[in-house]
Amino acid sequence: MSRVAWVGFDMDYTLAIYQQEAMDRLSIEATVDKLVARGYPPWLRELHYPLDFAIRGLLVDKHLGNILKLNRFKIVRKGYHGLKELSRNELRALYYERKLRHKSSRYHWIDTLYALSEACMFATMVEAFDERKQSVKYTRLFNDIRSCIDEAHRDGTILKPVMADPDAFLERDPSLAPALHRLRSAGKRLFLLTNSGPAYTRVLLRHLLEGQLADYPTFQHYFDAIICSARKPVFFQERNPLLLVDDDDQTSPAELPLEKGRLYQGGNLHVLEKALGVTGNRVLYVGDHIYGDMLRSKKDSAWRTAMVIPELVAEIAAHQEGRDEAYRWSDIEARRLELEDDLREQQQAVRRGQRATNGDAERGRADLAHRKQLLGAIRRQLRALDREARGLRRGLDRRFHPYWGSLLKDSGELSLFGSQVDDYACIYVARVSNLGNYSPNQYYRSPHNLMHHEL
Ligand SMILES: [Mg+2]
Repeated sequence: MSRVAWVGFDMDYTLAIYQQEAMDRLSIEATVDKLVARGYPPWLRELHYPLDFAIRGLLVDKHLGNILKLNRFKIVRKGYHGLKELSRNELRALYYERKLRHKSSRYHWIDTLYALSEACMFATMVEAFDERKQSVKYTRLFNDIRSCIDEAHRDGTILKPVMADPDAFLERDPSLAPALHRLRSAGKRLFLLTNSGPAYTRVLLRHLLEGQLADYPTFQHYFDAIICSARKPVFFQERNPLLLVDDDDQTSPAELPLEKGRLYQGGNLHVLEKALGVTGNRVLYVGDHIYGDMLRSKKDSAWRTAMVIPELVAEIAAHQEGRDEAYRWSDIEARRLELEDDLREQQQAVRRGQRATNGDAERGRADLAHRKQLLGAIRRQLRALDREARGLRRGLDRRFHPYWGSLLKDSGELSLFGSQVDDYACIYVARVSNLGNYSPNQYYRSPHNLMHHEL
């Protein structure tokens, strides 16, 4: 951190942590209303939508109406059709034979906390249409959900209630303002880079930051540059002009240097780096979106990245509570490897023995019978271990999440989401204010990676 001169922040789900359930409920109501207005059956309003259904990093198979969790090798590890879990055999038949083209239009990533409600609605509606034996094209259903939710964001159905009563939708973090102050007092300069519009940004930042610290009477006091409607990830790739926003939200072309206290909108990476007077690894950008905030800033610039993962709080608790079961599970895995070796050895010996005893002596036959008994015993032990491992795994997964298990891992392996965090985030934190627990010049070290030959 000692090399970092500027710390930039995304706003939604980064500085502003939403109350997930309240936001999900708002999105679902808005979307269902719009779907019904487009001719979908009114009983969609009566369905029970399980708000805890989705996690980030899921892949929607629009074509089959399935929702999938992949590991870092992009192998499907868990899946639901509607709200019914797909068995290992079903997954194998559907997704293991051909390469899964997750970038094709058949699939859609759930990669923000905003999007959890889309997955929840899709699963619930697929289930409801199936149960009622009413035919529906799953792809069309998903695309309609997406377009209705986008429309609800655009036309204010979602933003207006939040602006009218931020307390009902946002969490308050009393450590946020002091954490930003700690960075500033060490000489760091702060900027805001958000996709939200100026009016919305003003309301949220006033709510989150004003009235917290005497030296910062307005939210503008925390930031040296404020850029709204940034259009990330396009911001990192294209050359949109930077505009100055006045108090009535009228815009005019911006001139450098940027004025502290004013709001800007649009712009691009190059104009921002010019305005800040620094490039590359002297900028740390803090965001929550793996694609828009982390991956693009990493691929198109040399910015360092910090990812906000509010789910970490639950993830760490589940990890600690399940520690003994996790140890037992790894012991079983190790024991299973040994037994599988024994099994192969005995199988070979039996095959050799069968060849040698063809029409031959008594002793050969006794030996063969003994080895077959051993084989049976090993198989029984393996089956018992499998059963225990499966039970332990189910219990462990449920500690993390009732439907999907851990967000960042899957059966001891990184989940696809976890591997993206690993690849694109220099550091990750549960919330921005956690940065305030460390020196603004902290050197963050990660544990060393071991390859198999080093174990
Ligand atoms: Mg965000």
